[in-house]
Amino acid sequence: MTTITLRNLRKEFDDVVAVNGVDLTVRDGEFLVVVGPSGCGKSTTLRLLAGLETATDGEIRMDDRDVTGTEPKDRNVAMVFQNYALYPHMTGRRNITFGMNATDSFTDEEIDRRVAEAAETLDITDLLDRKPQAMSGGERQRVALGRAIVRDPDAFLMDEPLSNLDAKLRIQMRAELTRLHAELGTTTVYVTHDQTEAMTLGERVVVMDDGEIQQVDPPQALYDFPENRFVAEFIGDPAMNMIDVAVEGGVAVHDAFRIPLPTGEAGDGKNVENGTAAESLADPEAGDRRKAVLGVRPEDLHPARDRPDLGETTFDATVEVTEPLGDSLLVHCSVGDATFKMGAEPRSSLEPGGTVSVTYDPERLHLFEPETG
Ligand code: ADP
Repeated sequence: MTTITLRNLRKEFDDVVAVNGVDLTVRDGEFLVVVGPSGCGKSTTLRLLAGLETATDGEIRMDDRDVTGTEPKDRNVAMVFQNYALYPHMTGRRNITFGMNATDSFTDEEIDRRVAEAAETLDITDLLDRKPQAMSGGERQRVALGRAIVRDPDAFLMDEPLSNLDAKLRIQMRAELTRLHAELGTTTVYVTHDQTEAMTLGERVVVMDDGEIQQVDPPQALYDFPENRFVAEFIGDPAMNMIDVAVEGGVAVHDAFRIPLPTGEAGDGKNVENGTAAESLADPEAGDRRKAVLGVRPEDLHPARDRPDLGETTFDATVEVTEPLGDSLLVHCSVGDATFKMGAEPRSSLEPGGTVSVTYDPERLHLFEPETG
């Protein structure tokens, strides 16, 4: 069992700062997912953990051991890659056991026992005598997982391991990874660019952008209480609506509507961005008119006739386009110069060009700083 601690971790490649001062604790036995757009520094962070890159600055600890400068083989971690990294000329069994004799001094009996156990856990006993070209993508990835678990490492480090699988298999393997983690309880750091994968797999999710951590939280907390605009827009599909407003005396003012804002306590994460500047935006005592961005998820907006319980908090908008999604209807609307998306009942009769009265739960509104620069 292992806790991994990163302190002020930094990695520069020439003039690129790939990882810019990351502080993070991966808890013992946790499944932690690191998510962010391409180039945000996820893989580099994982490679630093594995010892495949050398940190420019900062510290990596596994429990009370400082492993910052150590070789990969001295860290007892197992990597799983997107491209499986199997040797094509070796059988499944040889791929799983390759190097075990040399580096870990296991006896042959111990190796056989471990392979049989891993093969059973992953349901790959049939694949042990096959070579990779005779396996499907999903089977290859299971063998690659077998190679990782057979060593009983202190941590699994997984870099987009499901990205080469088709959509259906990916969903199946997601469930399998969750089951595997429940069974083994090994500390796992999992990197992906896919926010759905992050939300479904992670006990906690780290959102990265531009080499820096934006937020670390359990999936639902990230979704409900994003701490900044980047997280709010990155997590969730369809993305959160963002509407430029002015805030005056606790009311979000737009040419076409006025929305009274709930007044959150500082740091309650409820509806206003954490942090003093944004908090004061929603302060009814702050009389000054300031620019801000009002964020609201499409499913938190409703045609008023569907939600009479939400009462008088309504404004009128124009229906532009409707998209049936099967379990809901996504309604593209405009109000003044702003556009937004709203979720509606699947068979709602909303016609493009018509007017719709829109309602919302004030507790589900978010307020962010306007973009600077
Ligand atoms: P991600 O995994 O989030 O897509 P990476 O960690 O691979 O991002 O990359 C972060 C940044 O570091 C990118 O700008 C990338 O181009 C740069 N980078 C990564 N590896 C190298 C390298 N070996 N040499 C130079 N630049 C690199």
